[in-house]
This record gives sequence, structure tokens and C-alpha cells, in this order.
Amino acid sequence: MKRRSFLSSALAATALAQAPQGQNRPQRRFDLLIKNGEVRDPGRSVKRKADVAIQDGKIAAVEDSIAADRAYEVIDAKGLLVTPGLVDLHTHVFYGAAFGLHADPIAARSGVTTWVDAGTFSHDMTLGFRKFTVEPSKARIFGFVYTYQNNRNVAADPIKFAKSTMKQTGEAVVNNRDIMIGVKVQVGFNMSGKYSFDIFKIARDICDTFQIPMMAHISFAPPETEEIMPLMRAGDVVTHCYNGHTLGIVEKEAARLKPGVKEARDRGVIFDLGHGLGSFNFAAAKRALDAGFVCDTISTDIYPPNVNGPVFDLPTTMMKMMYLGMSFDDALLRVTANPARIVNSQMVRVPKLGSLEVGAPGDVALLGIEEGQFTLVDSQRNTVTTDKRVVARATICRGKRMHVVA
Ligand SMILES: [Zn+2]
Repeated sequence: MKRRSFLSSALAATALAQAPQGQNRPQRRFDLLIKNGEVRDPGRSVKRKADVAIQDGKIAAVEDSIAADRAYEVIDAKGLLVTPGLVDLHTHVFYGAAFGLHADPIAARSGVTTWVDAGTFSHDMTLGFRKFTVEPSKARIFGFVYTYQNNRNVAADPIKFAKSTMKQTGEAVVNNRDIMIGVKVQVGFNMSGKYSFDIFKIARDICDTFQIPMMAHISFAPPETEEIMPLMRAGDVVTHCYNGHTLGIVEKEAARLKPGVKEARDRGVIFDLGHGLGSFNFAAAKRALDAGFVCDTISTDIYPPNVNGPVFDLPTTMMKMMYLGMSFDDALLRVTANPARIVNSQMVRVPKLGSLEVGAPGDVALLGIEEGQFTLVDSQRNTVTTDKRVVARATICRGKRMHVVA
């Protein structure tokens, strides 16, 4: 019995050895094949015509040409750019909470496959965020926990709340590392009045104690930019960097950075656009660009009062930077590989996120660049006309096409 099985396995081994390589072995078909498109993967400087195949929710092949019959489903991307699924670092997508949008329908029409909720909920709603937003969503969702109470109308002292929940706020991140990145704080007199700098210092304390990243919203002084910048550390994010308000990165009248901004960047602080209803101003952005300061990430700060304008979506926000002179590929880098690095900061949450490398998630955007006359509006309702628009023609997330009617 023993000898027989030895013989049969030896025979089988011979048969295998004799078979020409690649033959007699049924090849598994790809789940999805994107053909005839122009691949743009700026994090790896890839810019070429190629076909992209997806299997089991991951990028399985990127080759000059892949035969259509090797896949169950084929999308013709002729005339389109095939890019990594876009990553929006500043959104509000805890659906049902104040300022929360339902991400999936917007994802389907905008190419955004990864959404970072930048402060919509306090520590006690982290489980709800996981169960009712992250888990049911087709798009990938991550978050920063807020230092404020969920219902900001509650007549409570915000400092008392933030101080008494420091431990819980930090633990909301470290106990949920797979979905939580860090702590979000809003710095600006308009947000928390005379408490603004105190709230910031509490967030600084939490992030130092738990060794986690902070995302700081900046809007109106006091406190001043030069007070905030020295307290930002490598891996922290300053959002709303092109706002036209008093707590910004650039001087009001000149193309000159405010004190401490360049030093913060040199230390490894990330500067994010975060458009929102009040925080993107063409003139401020232009002054910063003229001063040589290009944001690291482009994000929308999308929420219900701005989704129908002036923000609309991430491709529209990219167009605003392109209007100011940024190339499409430079804008694409700031909505793919750059924000993906922050999603994967301190731990790899999604390997190879923001790229189209083999093994990366099967997250792809098919983008078109169209010519015409298009109007763009900033947060202060300044209007410009541009001759190019970026539109998403398809969004694929986790290897599956997302549909506009969710
Ligand atoms: Zn926001």
C-alpha cells in the first residue's frame, strides 16, 4: 500500500515535469479587467498605457495588454485615466450624526474609495461609528475622534468635558487602531471662543500621552499661528491650510508664510487643504503657492451644507488647485499616495493603499479630463472660470464597481 502510493505520486510528479509550463493548468480568471486606459499612479511615478486586472479584491496584474477573455468582466477605459481609488483625508461621513454624510453614493460618482472622518463624534460614539458607518459601508472609512461633546448645544463647559474625558478620547484611538487614526481638534476663536487655545493644549496632551497623531483645524485667531505651529509634531496634520482667515499659514497682504509654518513642515507636520464651507480661499492659496508652499494633501471637508456647493466632491477640489497651476499628476498624488500614508501612519491599516501596485487594494478610479468652460467657487464665493474639469466615470472599491444609486 505504501509502495503503491509512492509509485503513483512519482508518476504524477513525472507527468507534471513533462507538461510545458503554463499548460494543463486551468488559469483562474480575473474578476475584473480594466482595458485600454492610461494608468496614472503618481506615488510610484507610473504613467503609461496598461491594462489592470483585479482578483479577490486586490490588484492582480498591471500589464501592457491582458486578453479580455481572461476576466469575467471587462471595463473599457479608452480615453480615461486609470488611477488608484482616491483618498479624502478630511470628510464627515458618520451618517446620522450632526454633519455626517452617507459616503457610498458620493464615492460612486467621485472616485473616492477611502474616506477619513475628521472629527464628527466624540469618544463615546466610536463603537457606533464602527457598527453603523464603517462596517456597512462599501467605501473604506477611517476616523479621527473629536475632543468635543457630540451635541455641541449642550450647555456644558467644553474645557470641563475635554479635560474629564482625556483618557477615554485617547483610548478611543488606541483601542480601535484598525479604524481610528488620531484626535481632531478645532483651533479658532470662532469655534470655541476664549477656550480655543486651552482645547488645543488638552488635545496636545492626549496625543502626547497616547503617542497618536493630531489633526488641528485652524481658522480665526486667537490663538495666533506662531503659537500653534511650534506645538505641532511630525505626523500631525494642520487642516484648512489655504483658509483666508486670521489663523492661516500665509500673511494677509503678502506672499509670505507666517512664523513657524516652514519650520513645522520641516519637522514633518502635514499640511492639508480641507476645503469646507469656510476654509478654501483662492487668493490665500495663491499667496501660499507664490511663497512656495504646496499643500501635502487635497481634501474636501465635505458635509451636508457644502456637498451641493461650493465643495461638491474631491475631483472638483483637485480642479481648484489645477486652476492655480498645479499639474493633474501633482494633484493626484495629493489625493492618493500622500493621504494614504497618513491612513497607514503608525500601523499599516491597508497595505499598499493609494497605489496600483500588484497586491494593492482593488480600489480604482476611472477619471476623465474634459475641456470646456467650467465655473469654480471658493468658500468666500469668489468665482473663477477654468477650461478643464476632472470627472469620475467609474469607481471600483474592493474589486467591485460602485453604482451611483446605492
Ligand atoms: Zn471638518
